[in-house]
Amino acid sequence: MCGIFGVYSLSRENVAKKIYYGLFSLQHRGQEGAGIATSDSYNIYSYKNIGLVTEVFNDEILQNLIGYIGIGHVRYSTTGGKCLENCQPFVVKSSFGNIAIAHNGDLLNSEELRLELEKKGHIFTSSTDSEVIAQLLVRELLKTKDRVEAIQNTLKKLVGAYSLLIMFNDKIFAIRDPWGFKPLCLGRDEDNIYVSSEDCAINTLDAKFVRDLEPGEIVEIGEDINIYKIENEDIYNVELEGERVYKKAATCMFEYVYFARPDSTIDGISVYKVRKNIGRELAKEHPTDADIVSPIPDSGNTFALGYAEESKIPYYEGLMKNKYVGRTFILPSQNERELAVRLKLSPIRAVLENKRVVLVDDSIVRGTTSRRIVELVRKAGAKEVHLRIGCPKIISPCYYGIDMPTKKELIASNKDLESIRKEIGADSLGYVSLEGLIKAIGRKDLCLACLTGRYPTPIKFKKVKDY
Ligand code: SF4
Repeated sequence: MCGIFGVYSLSRENVAKKIYYGLFSLQHRGQEGAGIATSDSYNIYSYKNIGLVTEVFNDEILQNLIGYIGIGHVRYSTTGGKCLENCQPFVVKSSFGNIAIAHNGDLLNSEELRLELEKKGHIFTSSTDSEVIAQLLVRELLKTKDRVEAIQNTLKKLVGAYSLLIMFNDKIFAIRDPWGFKPLCLGRDEDNIYVSSEDCAINTLDAKFVRDLEPGEIVEIGEDINIYKIENEDIYNVELEGERVYKKAATCMFEYVYFARPDSTIDGISVYKVRKNIGRELAKEHPTDADIVSPIPDSGNTFALGYAEESKIPYYEGLMKNKYVGRTFILPSQNERELAVRLKLSPIRAVLENKRVVLVDDSIVRGTTSRRIVELVRKAGAKEVHLRIGCPKIISPCYYGIDMPTKKELIASNKDLESIRKEIGADSLGYVSLEGLIKAIGRKDLCLACLTGRYPTPIKFKKVKDY
């Protein structure tokens, strides 16, 4: 996942604080590390560390990040493990001075590119894709002496998902890959130009959302704004099931279903509305006699609201979430994992007792958490538990930046609906259909690969242990 945020101050004010608030608003996209790099035209200053935005930065650190241009990153680890070296932005030296890079997404051919570069003598300090991009760019800058051409040449080599911010001493290049896997948008106020993974961060700063970047677009942000397109149509002509298909865009459906904040809008479509529409679709596709509809908080909240509205079954909060249980919770043993669900979610007996409950959540991955929650609701006195899921069955791994388990571990990849229902222990189980999901989102140019096994890019590059 990851979140990226950049600011260019036209009035030449320091931007570190603004980036801090932007990253804080994107914290849901990654909690493992955070970083900011700024530039005052002469030098790049940077700081990054493991932890939440509020843990990584304090006033003193932010004051030392001088400069009217800056980019930031919140990290969620996919390629590369959890360590400080893998936090971003990445700062590298080049013939154009220092460059900072912040990347959201995952490249499929990063291993090949890394090996090629190593053969040519490059030494890597981290295991992330972002450093591969940085090193490629440094080489191209040496060759071409032209920044836009060097960026174009670098991007031609990349296959996979990338929303990127590349900062030079005097400007930022914002880039969205030709498939548009990950969101990226522009904002503006009187004195600043913003670029952000989601517009919720732009709204927090009371700036105006301008527009989403188009797939394949490069936006040069400086005193002037220049727009370029990624110039390599060939590698986006992919062969799928023996047929050559030109994929225009393949935006990740999971952004709408789970990742993005409900108050964000991606490519003109409100995430909140999509989730509510999915809830409605679920109610149409999987109606049931029940007394209450309850979400699994927080991920199921908006879906449940849609289900309740459509089905006319009243909406109740049957579970309470402990807001202070973070993702960093370390759970070594099975017993402790059981305890973790109880620490995180607490059933409200007064709501659930003797009720037939429709429980609504966003997705099922391994199935273990769903089973524990169904059990929790039953123990609190529910007569029946009907589980409704706002994402179709996940049957294939993601290679574009979402840390999903292997195919073997995905419950829906090797079990039919009835077997999953039994394993989870629900009285009935219903997933929204693929058609229902597409209808609810209202666009067809989506990546649905983890639901269908049909990937919008070639995947031959990836060294995958367990397809
Ligand atoms: S495979 Fe699934 S999670 Fe990954 S980008 Fe595509 S839709 Fe999103």
